[in-house]
Amino acid sequence: MSLPEVLDRIRAAEAAAGRPSGSARLVAVTKGQDLASIEQHVLAHGEFPLGEGRAQELRDKAAQRPELEWHFLGPLQRNKVKYMRPVTLVHSLEEVWQAEALAQAAHTWGRAPDVLLQLHNGEAQKHGVDPEQLRSVLQHVRATGLTVRGLMVMAPEAEEAQVRRVFEDAARRAHDLGLSELSMGMSGDYPLAVAAGSTLVRVGRSLFT
Ligand SMILES: *Cc1c(COP(=O)(O)O)cnc(C)c1O
Repeated sequence: MSLPEVLDRIRAAEAAAGRPSGSARLVAVTKGQDLASIEQHVLAHGEFPLGEGRAQELRDKAAQRPELEWHFLGPLQRNKVKYMRPVTLVHSLEEVWQAEALAQAAHTWGRAPDVLLQLHNGEAQKHGVDPEQLRSVLQHVRATGLTVRGLMVMAPEAEEAQVRRVFEDAARRAHDLGLSELSMGMSGDYPLAVAAGSTLVRVGRSLFT
């Protein structure tokens, strides 16, 4: 597949769900890809936010292309917070201490990235905020001064009905909390995610094969 084909499938899923065209944005996940490959497979087709999952790799690429829009979507370790300086949106915030460290670093940077709270998906997966804690974590993260724009979830490796339930549950929670952004959908499941209301679709592999 190529980026234009992925965009077509996103647009088709929006239309099928009765959603406005463009209401689900593509975040091109570029982890593991060098800048030449990103140029060829992504930027040749237009401007898209680029999603990175490893902090050092993000720092190295963003240093070379600071004019691009960089997102971070991997696990955020304390000693890597300093590499988040070029990032406009962190999709994977899951602990209050991460927000505190980001907010503190942002003082010296003069600007802060916005964040999404990653929701735990009920699988034996270690990342994400427990749904029971979501409201309280949201309050604490907001208290640091960061802007929380929405939720992120990763689908479990499961049958379609279960994936759909995880996406719909995340959409309902975001709606209940008054959060407008929903980061969900990867190469294997993004049409389902768009059907459930995703506004940020994180596709990697499909753009580069
Ligand atoms: C790698 C990654 C993606 C992209 O996954 P693909 O299967 O390559 O489309 C999306 N989100 C996160 C958090 C990732 O780590």
